[in-house]
Amino acid sequence: MLHANAPPKPPGVFDVAIIGAGVVGCAVARRFALAGARVVLIEKGADILSGASKANSAILHTGFDAPPDSLELELVKAGRQEYLEIRESLSLRIVETGALVCAWNALEADKLEAIEETGRANGISELKLLTGSAARATMPSLSENLVAAIEVAGEHVIDPWTAPLAYLTQAVSLGAHFLRSTELLKGTFDGEWTLETSSGEVCARAVVNAAGLYGDVVDERLGFAPEFAIHPRKGQFVVLDKAAFRHVPRIVLPVPTEITKGIVVCPTAFGNVIIGPTAEEQDDRIRATVEADTLKALITRGAEIVPALAGIPVTALYAGLRPATEKKAYRVACRPEARAITLGGIRSTGLSAALGLARHAVELHATFGEALTPPASVPSIVMPNLTETEERDWQRPDHGEILCHCELVTRREVEATFTSPVPPGDFGGLRRRTRAGMGRCQGFYCNAHLAALTAGKLATPLAVDEGEAK
Ligand SMILES: Cc1cc2nc3c(=O)[nH]c(=O)nc-3n(C[C@H](O)[C@H](O)[C@H](O)COP(=O)(O)OP(=O)(O)OC[C@H]3O[C@@H](n4cnc5c(N)ncnc54)[C@H](O)[C@@H]3O)c2cc1C
Repeated sequence: MLHANAPPKPPGVFDVAIIGAGVVGCAVARRFALAGARVVLIEKGADILSGASKANSAILHTGFDAPPDSLELELVKAGRQEYLEIRESLSLRIVETGALVCAWNALEADKLEAIEETGRANGISELKLLTGSAARATMPSLSENLVAAIEVAGEHVIDPWTAPLAYLTQAVSLGAHFLRSTELLKGTFDGEWTLETSSGEVCARAVVNAAGLYGDVVDERLGFAPEFAIHPRKGQFVVLDKAAFRHVPRIVLPVPTEITKGIVVCPTAFGNVIIGPTAEEQDDRIRATVEADTLKALITRGAEIVPALAGIPVTALYAGLRPATEKKAYRVACRPEARAITLGGIRSTGLSAALGLARHAVELHATFGEALTPPASVPSIVMPNLTETEERDWQRPDHGEILCHCELVTRREVEATFTSPVPPGDFGGLRRRTRAGMGRCQGFYCNAHLAALTAGKLATPLAVDEGEAK
């Protein structure tokens, strides 16, 4: 059965079909398009970032704490390096915060030396072991209880939504097809792939599984014996009001445990502060609920770390699901005999590693013996700025009007999304492209206006009577 919003089936045989438009799939689509492949990106959601990639901590990691000699370490470093190299040409934003790994007791302080050693062995040289008072000198708002810390100069914060959108925008500018609201149902390989989807049949010479929380399911649908099982790991966050921002100029990391990087207090590129994430195993791959008791505990922990955060209002709550598996390592598989690549189990560093994973996928594809010819020229991409560190649209003339007063989003910004190469498919996608409805009132004042402006354009309309909204 065809999905109501399914796009028409693209003609011909693609060089590569990528399943899943999370940050990894978007980066893979870009890298294959840059290599000269005819690309189709198949996404079951109405928009990109419908899975794990819609909710994370937005840290561009250095890899200082990644498992030594791992593929994850290699790809996090490669991904970060490429992000820094392409950020001007794709107008990707970065907030250069640096991070402090903080020890709050003697036991944790004892672990810092080993963390520093791992970081250096991982090839990260910008690490400095500091006493509690030296660390507080770099961030005086930290609690006096701080015992010691490691400064990691290269850990930064990025805009986690515009970056993947930029990757896909560049891929589309090079001719890639984006099939949204299209679920991969079954694949058969007979010299080339025939992919049965909810929008009909798609043919491709090679396939890349970047299905995140459904990586194991998609492998099975492609006819492969499961090599891993996804065990979603939920992370809840509290978003504090912008008043918190001046108290948290750096990313404050805890000493990590075996299963989690732990509770982070972190500035966002949008001028807020987040506290989280938790690490909770669950079976549900879709629902990421937030629980009052956990959130109270996060708020309390945040104020223990940065006392000035006590009493600052909460703007929003959210939770994300990590595509974790039974093993810590990325679950990357290459099957040359079926011209298939799986980029599975990209648990908690995928935002940082995405560009590295994309390069790796193209290298693996080269072993299939399919030569690709890169395009003669690559169009430049200009992405809108949503961060607070650069000029926003409302600060420029002729923006129409401000639609969302909490996040200062203009009519021109909202309208521009619908004429962009990858327009939003649902309201979440519009929010991630503009920040509309993400502020203090969470859309209470602007939703009616936005509903009128977006009527007929989104897969799920905002539940407001159009007549009244006008
Ligand atoms: C709480 C939390 C904090 C994090 N913090 C950070 C951080 O600070 N820095 C960092 O680098 N990383 C971080 N991460 C990790 C990062 O967000 C993930 O590694 C990354 O989002 C995984 O992306 P993905 O593309 O592999 O998966 P996904 O984003 O899940 O994308 C897979 C896509 O495939 C689609 N799909 C699934 N099945 C099908 C099908 N059958 N047909 C078509 N489409 C399908 C889904 O709809 C989805 O859009 C964090 C993650 C969480 C949850």
